[in-house]
Amino acid sequence: MAAKAGEYDVAIVGASLSGCSAAILLSRAGARVALIEKRPDPRAFKRICSHYIQASAVPTLERLGLYEPILAAGGVRSRNHIWTRWGWIEPTEERHAYCLNLRRELLDPMLREAAAAEPGVELMLGQAAERLLRDGDAFAGVAVRDREGTEREIRARLIVGADGRDSRVAEMAAVKEKTFPHGRIAYGAYFEGPKTKFWPDGAVWFLDPDFAAAFPTDGDQVFYIAMVGKERAPEFKQDAGQALIDHVAGVPDPPPIREGQRIGPVIGKVEMPNRVRGPVAPGLALIGDAALATDPLFGVGCGWAFQSAEWLADSVSPALRGIESLENGLGRYRKRHRRQLGVHAFLIHDFATGRRLNPAERLMLSTAARDPQAAALFEAFGTRRTAPPRLLAPMTRRVVATQVRRLIA
Ligand SMILES: Cc1cc2nc3c(=O)[nH]c(=O)nc-3n(C[C@H](O)[C@H](O)[C@H](O)COP(=O)(O)OP(=O)(O)OC[C@H]3O[C@@H](n4cnc5c(N)ncnc54)[C@H](O)[C@@H]3O)c2cc1C
Repeated sequence: MAAKAGEYDVAIVGASLSGCSAAILLSRAGARVALIEKRPDPRAFKRICSHYIQASAVPTLERLGLYEPILAAGGVRSRNHIWTRWGWIEPTEERHAYCLNLRRELLDPMLREAAAAEPGVELMLGQAAERLLRDGDAFAGVAVRDREGTEREIRARLIVGADGRDSRVAEMAAVKEKTFPHGRIAYGAYFEGPKTKFWPDGAVWFLDPDFAAAFPTDGDQVFYIAMVGKERAPEFKQDAGQALIDHVAGVPDPPPIREGQRIGPVIGKVEMPNRVRGPVAPGLALIGDAALATDPLFGVGCGWAFQSAEWLADSVSPALRGIESLENGLGRYRKRHRRQLGVHAFLIHDFATGRRLNPAERLMLSTAARDPQAAALFEAFGTRRTAPPRLLAPMTRRVVATQVRRLIA
């Protein structure tokens, strides 16, 4: 593409899941990419994350060429069994319903290595984005500072903020942002020891309003997580390890957490407001958590980081090749982001307050626990493979049929 020496087609800030994915796909589309990461260590990884990658993102991982390497690194394919007070909602045998699990400790360096190996990508570690450069109304570059304090300007036609939920790029660009309250805290840790009942599948407990989950992963480890109302924060702050074990061991049909051995620290996050940002501005786009950081309860952030990177790369590649204006490409990305994630995000944010299940949700879950067809619809929704509006009519039919059958019986 047309970048001059020392200039780039794209400057991506953040070399984690979304940034590395976008760098790989844009490089393959012919772009010259500066991939800027403030952490100096190529093996750095996100510590506060339970690693679970939704099935919706598996096609993107295949396209990135990472699906097989993830499995080769010990990654675990799994589905979820969901406990409700009406019984377990069982997963289907559907091939596309399988999610992926690989600890971020292995996943993040793998992505960074794959991005750095792309001929069009220049990975710049230990460089923090500090200032955006403008050319008239459009963003046209980013000033970065290294760890010795030296500042350098990187010019590019497109700036991408892939810098996570507290995105500095979004802040510097002053894009529109909405926040929605989050009423639960999350504490989790990796354990080894006896296998869980559904191994290698995961299990989630809808305790209403609290949650617990067990996600098996590489190295025969399980990540156990508790998500409970904020009023229980003092209990977790006092002894997070004990509170986590007590919560998970206290669920119905509990997994063997008490018999397991914790590996590493308990990670916890208390404040996680949901953040929605306008994902484009002239010469600039946001991907991953920088565009949409939602409640981790539903384990969607990693998958959406991969997918939003793919949508952006596909949307702007024609413009970077000079076939159309960048504005058109960015507009296409904005629409696709909203179309794919808008309703999912709305529903997640509504539930993220920590509230109990509403009557419609109770009907849906109780039906899915009793009816395999409703369970399959719920799985398609939960794994984010299908947009909620497409499930409304078939789910309503299953609810009516199942409830009528119960009344007659
Ligand atoms: C408790 C918890 C559990 C979670 N569990 C799951 C789960 O099981 N499944 C799931 O799908 N999601 C989960 N998530 C969400 C998931 O971690 C994120 O959605 C995902 O990491 C987003 O990826 P990203 O690439 O957009 O951003 P990040 O992974 O946050 O990466 C941002 C990158 O930008 C870099 N950066 C930041 N600022 C700058 C700067 N100024 N200059 C240069 N570089 C910069 C950072 O160093 C980092 O490398 C969880 C989140 C939490 C809080």
